[in-house]
Amino acid sequence: MLIDSHCHIDGEQFDEDRDKVVQRAGEAGVAAMLNVGTGDPHSDDFRKAVAVAESYENVFAAVGVHPHDAKLYDGKAENHLIELVKSSDKVIAWGEIGLDFYYDHSPRVVQLDVFRRQIKIARELDLPIIIHSRDADDETVAILTEEFGVTDADNSIRVPGIMHCFGGTPHMAEALMKIGFLISFAGNVTFKKAENLRDAARVVPLDKLLIETDCPFLTPVPHRGKRNEPAFVAHTAAFLAKLYGISIEQLAAATTRNFMALIRIKAKVSAQ
Ligand SMILES: [Zn+2]
Ligand SMILES: [Zn+2]
Repeated sequence: MLIDSHCHIDGEQFDEDRDKVVQRAGEAGVAAMLNVGTGDPHSDDFRKAVAVAESYENVFAAVGVHPHDAKLYDGKAENHLIELVKSSDKVIAWGEIGLDFYYDHSPRVVQLDVFRRQIKIARELDLPIIIHSRDADDETVAILTEEFGVTDADNSIRVPGIMHCFGGTPHMAEALMKIGFLISFAGNVTFKKAENLRDAARVVPLDKLLIETDCPFLTPVPHRGKRNEPAFVAHTAAFLAKLYGISIEQLAAATTRNFMALIRIKAKVSAQ
């Protein structure tokens, strides 16, 4: 049983064959997928992300404004997303939020401000956050450390969220795990030149590990070049199991358990 902890199957790339994509995921052993909404928070993009989760039993959703679109964030956008969270039990996380200083599609000061603002909202809603960080590792770690502090032995079960598509150094992974974050690897860990990602994966223990496709992007070997889809998370799972020297079943069990702990956060909140 595998989990694709970060996918974008609400995208138009899947409009033609979404049913089949979800079916193939099931056939590949993917028990659940977290569909992460992105786009303009003033459009219907996020409504569609939640609708896709509502359409399939094993698809969950996250809503939150990507750093690319931080410049579009305002009170109206925020209220729209909060309403979506409250509208469906399938919305289990807030994200993806964070910093992208590689593309700089939104001004950095705006990205920093909107990142903090969304962390605050997610905490008020008691939702885990999904972090996107590119070329902004120091700033990301600084903000998360400031907002959450580091965990101590008594507080080690706290899971503030997921660092998705990990692309940083082993040191960054360690810093994030100290705050309580799970570290999720995408298909690019299988790329020939990605020795840096494998170095980072080696410092992540099984109880902090997640796997994802980030589809339609970052298609893992041996499908590189094709559209990515949740079924292909099995290749990333097999690759990492080999890297860790464990069976794919052991890796699947650990990553599934870690993800289920996140889902339970929302289940607990909904029950209150
Ligand atoms: Zn991302
Ligand atoms: Zn993504």
